[in-house]
Amino acid sequence: MDKSTLDWVLNKHFKYDRLFGESTIKKYFVKYYVNNQDGSKFDFIWSFYQYQIIKTTETTSNIYLLNDILSKIYFQMVQFRRKYDNELANDLMQLSLDCSVKSYMPVDGFKMEISIISNACDCDYCESMNGKKFDGNDMLINKRYRAEKCTSSKGCRTIYSQVPARDKKGKLNRI
Ligand SMILES: [Zn+2]
Repeated sequence: MDKSTLDWVLNKHFKYDRLFGESTIKKYFVKYYVNNQDGSKFDFIWSFYQYQIIKTTETTSNIYLLNDILSKIYFQMVQFRRKYDNELANDLMQLSLDCSVKSYMPVDGFKMEISIISNACDCDYCESMNGKKFDGNDMLINKRYRAEKCTSSKGCRTIYSQVPARDKKGKLNRI
């Protein structure tokens, strides 16, 4: 690793990053470099993600914000695994999805649900789950959706979205 490693990390890998910021990445690079001069740029990036998970968990007291950030870090780790390790990383994808469920704030006066949006995925399982809605706790406890079941060769592309619950007639479910 040398100066060009940091350039590559900042200008290639994190080029479109809006989550961490250049100075955070630079600072961690300086720290990491001391003991890992012979390491690879990939090891550095992975270590950076792990460090960010720990640091964010330690410093973010708002549970919704914490899970929102964790969900985004895990999602970046999924992209990393797919791009550089040629792995589907659907287990990490599920971790990202679970954190997104925990990141949704309750909405005053309305019962909310999690909607599965999986039409970007070209597999039968995800197709069968597309548009299904579950209560957030139910989803987490009973594992209603599992990215690990996805059979797409590109890796699961499902996302979740929080939506107001509706009754069978389509009326909003007020509480
Ligand atoms: Zn799928």
